[in-house]
This record gives sequence, C-alpha cells and structure tokens, in this order.
Amino acid sequence: MTPALIKLQSIIQNSDNIVFFGGAGVSTESGIPDFRSADGLYSSKYKYSPETILSRSFFNKHTEEFYRFYREKMLYPGAKPNKAHLALSELEKQGKIKAVITQNVDGLHTFAGSKNVFELHGSALRNLCLDCGKVYDLDKILDSEGIPYCTCGGTIKPDVILYEEALDMNVMMTAVEAVYDADVLIVGGTSLNVYPAAGLIDRYRGDKLILINKSKTSYDKRANLIIRENIGETLGAVIGEL
Ligand code: ZN
Repeated sequence: MTPALIKLQSIIQNSDNIVFFGGAGVSTESGIPDFRSADGLYSSKYKYSPETILSRSFFNKHTEEFYRFYREKMLYPGAKPNKAHLALSELEKQGKIKAVITQNVDGLHTFAGSKNVFELHGSALRNLCLDCGKVYDLDKILDSEGIPYCTCGGTIKPDVILYEEALDMNVMMTAVEAVYDADVLIVGGTSLNVYPAAGLIDRYRGDKLILINKSKTSYDKRANLIIRENIGETLGAVIGEL
C-alpha cells in the first residue's frame, strides 16, 4: 500500500462518523459512462446536447426523443455494483459510514446493500405517472417503446432530477446535515463542478476531507488527503486490509 492509502486506512479505522459523497466516477467502473464527458459521441445521432435532452422543457416538448436518448444512454439494467459500492456498504455495516450521498441515479449503492443513501438527482429505478402519481419500476420503461403511459393514460416520467428542475429539498437538507456533522468526508469520482456538489462540501467543518479522483478538482487546496487513483481500487484495497 502507498503512504496515502495507509493514511486513508488509518483515518477510516479511527472514525465512526464518515460521510461519502460520490459522483459519476463511482459508476463508470460498473460500465456506466458519464454522459457529460462524452458529448462528442452523441453529435452524430442526436441533434441536441445531452444537457438539452435531459432538461424538463425538452421532456415536455419532445418526450419521445427524450426517451430514445434516455433508454440508450442513461439506463444500464445489467450494471452491477463495483468494489467502491461494495466497500461503502461494508463500511456502513461496520458502523463507520453514516451516509452515502450520490449524484448518480443508477441505484447501485442500494443494490450493494447500503441503507442510508441520499440520491440527490433521484433514481432511474422509480418512475412516476405525471397525472395520478402511480409509481412504476424500471421494467416499465425498459419493456415499453416510445413514451411509456400509465394505466390512467398519463405520461410516465423517470423520478430523476432533470436540468431546470429543483432538487428535492428534504433529501438535500438531510444530506447537508450529514456533511455538517461528519467527522470524515470522503469525496470520490466527481470533479465537483456539478451543482450542488460544491455547496455541499462547503458545509463540512472537519479536518479530514479526502478526495479520491483521477483528475484535479477545484477543491484540491482544501483537501487534507488527495488520492489520484481509481476509486474502486482505492476503497477495495482499504477494505481488504481492515
Ligand atoms: Zn396515472
């Protein structure tokens, strides 16, 4: 183990109040690409940018086109939790992790067994009828073509936060409280450029801010420990040694 990994392990061993905050990089190791990092890939197939397609006004106006992109680029029903998800779940069982906060909508933390998960951007596993509020699972989206409709005739929308939509304030406030009270804050797989990541980190008051990210982030100066490695390998290695 490298000196940085040994330090990370020691910090984890000595805390029972760790909060993990993760971004798209946590799921890329499960084969789910970050749609933001690959705009070029879509240009030939889609007339609009991913950010435009994944906006509420686009959903309202071009629902069928939204679903074409969404099914192809946002849903990965075969994806499995990777070492990062599994390590975080194990650390929660050991009483070390108090909360996992994620910007991902794939539900992989819950699949891995984590209980206290805050999904800031919602979940693709839940889908709601816009008229009657009936809840549908992911199969409803996967098994339908074009626009999925409720038995009442209403349009079904994934329970994910689209661009132009507000975050769920209850989820956000509880996440903010967890960060505020945390002894250790581990941030992984995010460049911290996506709202509301930065605002969340600003609430942390402790002196054990750990960044695990392959590239630089705007918070490197504030971090107490930076690990420029793959997040699954890093957390997997630490767990293996505990
Ligand atoms: Zn309905």
